[in-house]
Amino acid sequence: MTDTKHADLIVIGAGPGGYAAAFRAADLGRSVILVDGRSTLGGVCLNEGCIPSKALLHAARVIHEAAHIGTWGVALGKPKVDLDALRQRKDAIVSQLTGGLAQLARRRKVELVSGRAALAGGDELAITDANGDIRRWTFGQAIIATGSSPVQLPGWPTDSRIWDSTAALELRSLPRPLAIVGGGIIGLEMATIYSALGSAVTVIELADQVAPGAEPEAAALVRAALEARNCVVHTGTRVTGIKAGSKSVALACEGGFTGTVEADAVIQAVGRRASASAIAAEKAGIEIRSDGTIPVDARCRTSRPNIFAVGDITGGPMLAHRATHQGKVAAEVACGHAAAFDTTFIPSVAYTDPELAWVGPTTAQLKVAGVAHKVARFPWAASGRNLASGGGDGLTMIAYAPENGRVLGVTIVGTGAGELLAEAGLALEMGATLTDLALTVHAHPTLSETVAFAAERALGTLTDL
Ligand code: NAD
Repeated sequence: MTDTKHADLIVIGAGPGGYAAAFRAADLGRSVILVDGRSTLGGVCLNEGCIPSKALLHAARVIHEAAHIGTWGVALGKPKVDLDALRQRKDAIVSQLTGGLAQLARRRKVELVSGRAALAGGDELAITDANGDIRRWTFGQAIIATGSSPVQLPGWPTDSRIWDSTAALELRSLPRPLAIVGGGIIGLEMATIYSALGSAVTVIELADQVAPGAEPEAAALVRAALEARNCVVHTGTRVTGIKAGSKSVALACEGGFTGTVEADAVIQAVGRRASASAIAAEKAGIEIRSDGTIPVDARCRTSRPNIFAVGDITGGPMLAHRATHQGKVAAEVACGHAAAFDTTFIPSVAYTDPELAWVGPTTAQLKVAGVAHKVARFPWAASGRNLASGGGDGLTMIAYAPENGRVLGVTIVGTGAGELLAEAGLALEMGATLTDLALTVHAHPTLSETVAFAAERALGTLTDL
């Protein structure tokens, strides 16, 4: 144990929530300590989540396009996958970005401390470094941004062939039969990557549709695209047992599919869980929910006025962009500014092929809330740009209020849907109506036109269908 040090403001966790909080507070003139157990900044998102998966998903998309272009008169031949080269490119992108973050931290004079932090009562932390040495810190204010980790299904054995998303992104091998348990965002993205690289993928999903939180008709298009690439998708199916044999891993399934799925490897993608007890939040007297998350108010304050929490540790949706926005709010409030976080319109994107993106309540959520609504749809089969670019099925859906046409929620499924969704987010934030979308001149031919076309269709002014 070494001498106790003091931090004016300490941020625990250097993922998108934590580093955004630390950098914003430093920009507002605070002296900031940023602690993380990893040797690089960026948390799960940058090191083993959002960014590396996008590097692989882009490769998957190119493989898919290369296969199609043969039918348009340009033969490129069968792609040869070099796993080592793919992995190196992915790792190089991650290194470039983590190195960039370290530079940004230096420029702001944010002091980085490497080690695992745990609250030690009152306004005190114990940080254990890689050598096991513990240093105590007292703090004026703290921001907890410790994220979440993958859920492990109970009773599953430890076996090198059973992967979580981190292991799956390491590209250890290309299992021929690959089973993915969970058809949520991670499961679908992994199915997109591994099926393009050559694995025979089976997805097993408990709910009646893949991407259970999304509009069913949009999720169905993603499922159909995976099936067209020879992925097998079982919905309404529970894995009731697992046996790691010498030759394969066998999953016993019941429900929509009853039988056994044998695979060379299995990816578990059944959600993520936050754990406030992992940093002993209870020792500081912070209120913790039964699911391990920390409740915060709109200013990201925990039940202790000088301790804030942001990102996955505060509950869902567990998304990097939510964490970043909360991080900035926490930093601003900690610095005495008036700021608050509004969770109403947080976009969700599955970077599958086609991408599935939505913002605002879905029609199912509007129904539950008893909100009167109608839905405007524009099928991408009628989009010249989509056809010319070889895009597959797609759909733009706008839920709107029947009385005044106010946009309530938008779902887009199709190539680049995640990028197109930004217009919908802005429309929701600004309280836009169908007329606002329809009268905004969208460049032709673009996929963004599908947003205006859906609005025009509902208004009866569409001439493209
Ligand atoms: P998820 O909640 O999106 O999906 C988990 C899926 O597993 C659900 O569809 C659920 O019904 C299913 N499931 C649960 N138990 C099961 C069982 N026993 N058998 C079969 N299916 C089962 O979680 P995820 O895909 O693991 O992702 C974790 C978190 O990370 C989510 O919050 C997600 O939003 C986030 N994430 C986001 C992105 C992105 O924004 N593109 C990418 C990756 C992860």
